[in-house]
Formats: sequence, C-alpha cells, structure tokens
Amino acid sequence: MPVTRNVAWDGRLESFKGPDTAHYVLTAADLAKTCAACREPLKPDEPLSLLVNITQSTAPDGTEYFTFIDNVCHRRCSGPALTVKHVAWHLEELSPLAARVILTQASGAGRIRVVPVLAYTLVPVVTFRENGGERTSALVTLLLSHGFQLAMSAEYDDLLDHAGPVAAGCSFTVTPEGVLLFSIDGEILYRDQLELDPDNPHDAPWLQAARTAAYILVISGDNLDITEAILDIHGAARQGTLVIGTVPLFEGH
Ligand SMILES: [Zn+2]
Repeated sequence: MPVTRNVAWDGRLESFKGPDTAHYVLTAADLAKTCAACREPLKPDEPLSLLVNITQSTAPDGTEYFTFIDNVCHRRCSGPALTVKHVAWHLEELSPLAARVILTQASGAGRIRVVPVLAYTLVPVVTFRENGGERTSALVTLLLSHGFQLAMSAEYDDLLDHAGPVAAGCSFTVTPEGVLLFSIDGEILYRDQLELDPDNPHDAPWLQAARTAAYILVISGDNLDITEAILDIHGAARQGTLVIGTVPLFEGH
C-alpha cells in the first residue's frame, strides 16, 4: 500500500495517473475538508486514505476521457480503494455547477465598480488523454484555448484587476424568456433559467448589473467549491486550475 506524505492510496492508481499520481493524491487530500465516512473534519497530517472511482469512456475519435471521483477518509475509517467503470461514450453526463454573484470594487473618486460574475465548473473534473500523452483537464484546456487567463490568486480584487477579454467566439446571451446561455464557438456550455420575479432577491439585480456592464466575469476551471451557501475558489487557485475572463453579454431574440 503506497503512502504519499500522510495519504495511503491504491497502487493501481499509478497506471491511470502515471507521473501525476503523487500530485493527484496530495491535491485530493488538500481539497478534502471532511472524512467521507464519518464526516468529521480532517486535520493536517493525520493518517488518511484515498478512495477513487474512475469512469472511462472512449470518444468516436479514439480520445479516452476519464473522470475521477475521489473521497478522502481517516485511515481508521477506511483503507484506500479504487474502482474502474467503463461507460458508453456520451459527454452530457457532466453536470455543471454554477453560482451567480455580484462583486464590487472601489474604483477611485468614490465610485464603485459593480461586476456580475458567473462561477462555473464541471463535477466531476473531466480529463482526457490523446495517444498516450499527458492527462489534461478538458475544461481548463478549452477555456485557455479561447482567451481565458489562468489566475494564481483567489483574492477577488486580484481577479477583478487581472481578468481580460476572451476570444471572439465566447458569449453570453439572454433570451426574451430570461434564459442565460454561455457558449463558445456556437456550443452551449451552460444554460440556466433566470428567476426574474421582482420578489426574487438575487437574479433580477444580477441581470441588471450584467446588462449595465455588458459583460460577465467568468470564474471557472477545476476544483471550484460551489454549493448553495458558499463559493470557495482557494483550492482551485492553489492547484493552478482557476481560470478567468470577461465575456460579452448580448440580448437574444
Ligand atoms: Zn473518519
């Protein structure tokens, strides 16, 4: 049973992760906050186990896609484990997770800059491998190849200062029915029905801010922690998988 730092893992993992294995093991432990078995918080340096469920599928062009769902446990709660499942090819199994927030920043002369933000990630993280090459994040690669920028900091002021425009094929559209679409080169990455009820405390002001700015700051990449209650991008920034860019907003017809 191999152990990296304080984390035990199943030795078969190495045949999937190759030279990335140690980094993957430590990343999973770094991002985990509670034990997947007993739900107690994890403390630094206590003995842990990594449990990984791998799903593998092959695209029509021969590219192999992998998703890795990992759980971290106290070693006293579970030993390390690994399962592999082969599934038929279809990408729509991916579930996007997103949150709409508004950031504000003092912009001199007492003015406040109001920035509409869409935080967006895919769960689980999808990676691909072409012809036995290195494993690569599908989402991060897609965004970086369309003018998005890597962000090294999780501080919102830094993100607001450094985010720049993305490539021309990226856009947001709001349809007359209030559906928000995020697309790249005609492919829709994200679609959501905005709740534009005036009594709704959230989406109407967000859309107003987006229309005024005529752009939306996208905070994306892998390992974003998005729930109903929180948006935590510190893990993504630490892992170098945080990607940002400002995307223009158009009104649909
Ligand atoms: Zn436990």
